[in-house]
Amino acid sequence: MIQEKISYMTNGLKHSIEEPGRDELLYWLQENDEIKLRQLWQTADRVRRELVGDSVYLRGIVEISNYCRRACTYCGLNVTNNKIVRYQMSAAEILHCAGQIKDEGYGTIVLQAGEHDCIGAGWMAELISAIKRRTGLAVTLSLGEREPQELAAWKEAGADRYLLKIETCDRRLYNKIHPPRQKGYWLNRLQMLEYLKALGYECGSGIMLGLPGQSYFDLINALHIFRELELDMIGMGPYIPHMDTPLGKESVQKSSDQQVPAGDLITYKMIALCRIMCPDANIPSTTALATIKGNGGRLLGLARGANVVMPNFTPMKYRLCYDIYPGRVAADRDDRTVRRAIVHSIMESGRMIGCGPGWSPGFLKKQARNVSLEYKG
Ligand code: SAH
Repeated sequence: MIQEKISYMTNGLKHSIEEPGRDELLYWLQENDEIKLRQLWQTADRVRRELVGDSVYLRGIVEISNYCRRACTYCGLNVTNNKIVRYQMSAAEILHCAGQIKDEGYGTIVLQAGEHDCIGAGWMAELISAIKRRTGLAVTLSLGEREPQELAAWKEAGADRYLLKIETCDRRLYNKIHPPRQKGYWLNRLQMLEYLKALGYECGSGIMLGLPGQSYFDLINALHIFRELELDMIGMGPYIPHMDTPLGKESVQKSSDQQVPAGDLITYKMIALCRIMCPDANIPSTTALATIKGNGGRLLGLARGANVVMPNFTPMKYRLCYDIYPGRVAADRDDRTVRRAIVHSIMESGRMIGCGPGWSPGFLKKQARNVSLEYKG
C-alpha cells in the first residue's frame, strides 16, 4: 500500500495535490534510506517550484530584547536563567537596523523578542509606524503571547505578520515545556493564532523537532494542524539543548523507537512533507537547521521544499546575549560578509532572490476571497 502511495506522491502533482494519509506520513518520517528519500525530496522541490516559484525571500531578523517573563524549559531566555545579560534595543538602534535591511535589498523585517512588558504596546506601535514610514518594509512580529488589544494596536500601526510557534501539538509535552502564564489571556497558542488571523495578520507557526518525549505522531498531528489552520508561514527546526535550561539539563533521553531524533534529516523530511501538505505556505530553511548543519544544511532545506531565509541583523554586541540555544552566532566574522555569502550561495544553487515583501500565495488567495465576498455582500 505504501508503494502505491509513494507513486501517487511522486506522480501527477501538477494539477492536484491530495492530502497524504497518516500511514504515508509516518512511513516517510521513519524512512532513512537515502535512495528512497530522493523521491520525497524531488516531490517537495517540484511542488515548491510549481506553487511558490524559484524565488527565495530574505527576511532580516532583529532580536530587539531578551527580557522574558516566561519559564519555557527549552529556551535560554527563560526567566530563571540568571546567567545571561539582559538587554533591550532602543527605537533608534532598531530603526538603524531597519535601514540596513532596506539598503541590502530585503522586503521584510522580523522583530523578535522574549515575552515581556518592557516592550510596551504604545512604544511598539510607534516603532512599527516609524519603520513603515521610513522603509516601507513588511513588518513581522515574533513577540510571544500578547494581549488582544496590543495585537490589534500593532496591526493598526502597520504590522503585517505575526509568528507564534506552537512548538509541539502534544498537550502533555506542551504543558511540560511551556508552563502557563499566571493570569495570561490565552488558553493556548492556537487560540491566539485564530485571533491574529481574524485581525488580518499573515500568520506563522511551527514546531521544534526532537524534543525529549516527542513522538512521530506529534509531527503528523502538527502537519494536519498546519494545514487546517491554513498557515501562511511554517517554521521548523531541530531542538538544540541549552545547558542552562531545565529541559537541557535533563539527563540523556530515554530512547524509544517512537522518540523523534533531533537532527537535520528529520528537519528536511518535515520541510518536504509540509511543502506537500501546505503547498502555498512560505517555509523557511531555519536558523536552527543552519546552526547544526551550516550553510550546506540551509541550502538542503531550500532544495527540499523551503523558500525563505532569515539572515540576522541584530547588532553583534547584543547577539551573544540572545542566547535561545547554543551555537547560533558566528561572532568572528563580519556580518555583512556572512549575509553576502548566504545570498551568493543561494544564487549559485540556481535560485533567485525574491523582491518585495514576499506574501504567501495562500494569503493573497484568502485576501482576494475576502474582497470578493465583501463585494458580493
Ligand atoms: N518569545 C517568542 C520568540 C521565541 S524564540 C515566542 O515565544 O514566540 C523563537 C523560536 O526559537 C521559538 O519559537 C522556538 O521554536 C525556537 N527555540 C527556542 N529555544 C530553542 C531550542 N533550545 N532549540 C531549538 N529551537 C529553539
